Amino acid sequence: MKLLEYASKEVLASFGFPVQKGVLAHTLEEVEQALAELSFPVVIKAQVPVGGRGKAGGIKLAQTREEALEKARAILGMEIKGIPVKKVLITEAVDIEKEYYVGVVLDRRNQTFTLMVSPEGGVDIEEVARTRPEAILKYPVDVLMGLPDYKAREIAFWLFGDWGLVKQGAPLLKKLVETALAVDAQLAEINPLVKTPEGKLVAVDAKILLDDNALFRHPDLEGKRDMDYENKEELEAKEAGLSFVKLDGNIGCVVNGAGLAMATMDVVKHFGGEPANFLDIGGSSRPEKVIKALDIILRDPRVKVIFFNIFGGITRTDDVARGLIEVFRTREVPVPVVIRLTGTNEEIAHRMLQESGLPLIVATTMAEGAQKAVALAKGVAG
Ligand code: GDP
Ligand code: MN
Repeated sequence: MKLLEYASKEVLASFGFPVQKGVLAHTLEEVEQALAELSFPVVIKAQVPVGGRGKAGGIKLAQTREEALEKARAILGMEIKGIPVKKVLITEAVDIEKEYYVGVVLDRRNQTFTLMVSPEGGVDIEEVARTRPEAILKYPVDVLMGLPDYKAREIAFWLFGDWGLVKQGAPLLKKLVETALAVDAQLAEINPLVKTPEGKLVAVDAKILLDDNALFRHPDLEGKRDMDYENKEELEAKEAGLSFVKLDGNIGCVVNGAGLAMATMDVVKHFGGEPANFLDIGGSSRPEKVIKALDIILRDPRVKVIFFNIFGGITRTDDVARGLIEVFRTREVPVPVVIRLTGTNEEIAHRMLQESGLPLIVATTMAEGAQKAVALAKGVAG
């Protein structure tokens, strides 16, 4: 789960990290109210789940109330990388002497968190990593110890090159690591961390990615989920007990078990097709789950065919068949359905499907099913 800038800053501030004073606004009225609480100049910042907002014109400085309203109106009416701006964060502007990058990222390869810092902040850090890797210092954090004081000071000195800033900066590095560990973040980054002309360090932009699998440990953070931008289908699927991830292809896949779902996508790709989604209907699949799954998949107008690939273990294939028959009874299914059912109760399932007289395309193996689905998606008869 991605926290937008405003929510990421709330989390950081709750751990004692210095951030600019800011107020979130969805409408021009809210912008007016926000301005009453802030002192000028202010910065109007589009809150969208993508980076590079500054370059796209989604971050603007304003000296007066009129200017702020005018710029907020423009930003609230724009799209950034195809995403409409639904709200802005209005912050008190800080003067910038220098911009730094500081981030903590979950590093699976090294089975730890890596603290990354760079004196070349503000810009795209991936670009710095590509062109000037020596400008980034990486330190693998011991998750049990956290960042020890002496290391924090050493890294802060490398980063700021100034003992005056080390006193202020080293505890901030420790706080960032602490925050990332405490909230189970996959990424917690501040870009830029800014040094003001008065020599104060302030987080001007922040981004936190939370590990969805650990969210149950943080019910307070669940409330920061951004309903404006999260994929509604994915949330709805989650509530129904389905694991669903939207993809860009045109072959809807309904599968039981995450491993089989992955394999199905691989096989579809192998035969030249593109899956429209990853979907695991889970173990004991009640018919309602199948109905919900198709309901969600069929909302995507790009879907040209649906491929059911069910290996019945705990999942009873007759349950899946029952769900499928129910779907056809209750709604229109505008695309062909290829189905491969094998395992527990498959004789019953096949008989049910046959007796139902539904226009299903039956396959015996996964490869055969995938090939038929790919052919249908390409408009060639299965
Ligand atoms: P991003 O473009 O999505 O990464 O958004 P940022 O919040 O990082 O802003 C982009 C750039 O705008 C920063 O790197 C700063 O140079 C500038 N900026 C943002 N806020 C302020 C501010 O309060 N004062 C000043 N002077 N510049 C700012
Ligand atoms: Mn930034």
